[in-house]
Amino acid sequence: MLSRVVDTGFSFAVQAHAGGRARAGEIRTPHGTINTPAFIPVGTKATVKAVLPESMRDLGAQAILANAYHLYLQPGADIVAEAGGLGAFMNWPGPTFTDSGGFQVMSLGAGFKKVLAMDPGHRDDDVIADGKERLARVDDDGVTFRSHLDGSEHRFTPEVSMQVQHALGADIIFAFDELTTLNNTFDYQVASLERTRLWADRCLAEHDRLRSPDLPYQALFGVIQGAQYEELRRKAAQDLGRMAFDGFGIGGAIDKRNLSDIVGWVTDELPDDRPRHLLGIGEPGDLFAGVAAGADTFDCVSPSREARNSAVYSPDGRFNLLASAHRRAFEPIDPTCDCYTCQHYTRAYLHHAFKAKEMVASTLATIHNIRFTVRLVESIRQSILDHDFDAYRAEFTGRYSAGSRAAVRD
Ligand SMILES: [Zn+2]
Repeated sequence: MLSRVVDTGFSFAVQAHAGGRARAGEIRTPHGTINTPAFIPVGTKATVKAVLPESMRDLGAQAILANAYHLYLQPGADIVAEAGGLGAFMNWPGPTFTDSGGFQVMSLGAGFKKVLAMDPGHRDDDVIADGKERLARVDDDGVTFRSHLDGSEHRFTPEVSMQVQHALGADIIFAFDELTTLNNTFDYQVASLERTRLWADRCLAEHDRLRSPDLPYQALFGVIQGAQYEELRRKAAQDLGRMAFDGFGIGGAIDKRNLSDIVGWVTDELPDDRPRHLLGIGEPGDLFAGVAAGADTFDCVSPSREARNSAVYSPDGRFNLLASAHRRAFEPIDPTCDCYTCQHYTRAYLHHAFKAKEMVASTLATIHNIRFTVRLVESIRQSILDHDFDAYRAEFTGRYSAGSRAAVRD
């Protein structure tokens, strides 16, 4: 068994391998233990939209990930610190994660998908859609950006990101990195990767400076970038793998068709004794691919965002509750699901509540999608412990994708 016990309340141990790279393990944090693989629901602004933190515990969520950029702008990291940190502020007693803000500064700030031109054939390093204005500028020292809330100007450097995340006080925090798009030129990706490497060093130095023995230990994860390029992903994993990070995030632009390859290149190079978090991935099929490639934890807004848009998951695929087929469907979303929604409500009621634009529709659908995703990853973990991962993956994904295709035809 591999283990890395620091005398801090943070540790990681691998408990089982399932052939290939899939593994089950345990991350201990000062606020509790996370059994991996694990899906970490996202509470961007210190709330999982539409659901009470108390319900998150009932759903089996082991940790919650919030967003440093959003909490820095609103209400301010100092207010969260005064409240006793992120967990105390939002009434969530378990482990917490915050991301570094890099993704949001460069995606929301720069208007990724809104401002950046994203046509795949386009190759340019300043890809801004016609008539839009760039809201973030990257230089070697950091990023200057304008708030998406009020247009005020701010600057994040690796040091500022660490200061913000120390104030927020999450158990697992991420190094500040530059996000590139799949459209950037290779030369830009190389330069950006070097910038992220230098920022990683600065994050470690500032993190050490800010550490206090009187406060719960915060584990710092380095973030592996490199877009779709094997040599860059491997180099980033080698470079950061040699640094004193407690774990690693796998981030950046990922074309989902290459998800397995990209995560595999990275986990090939990373030390086995530290946890790996796949940032922003959480759709059912992608979770299997991520686990198979060696990722331990995942976060994604999709289960909750899709739920608010009336799209729900089931073993027979994803479907939309607004479809007229559900008007008189007096059955649960998923008869095999143990969530509160499936125990008490029918598709017909949810169809009505979404049609009538009642708030409870979002709450009930979110409860189901998060429970479905958490439980799916729990089952994946069990299949690894039982040495049955490949068979379980084939069985689940075969049924799920056949059902999703049928739902599209309906
Ligand atoms: Zn359910």
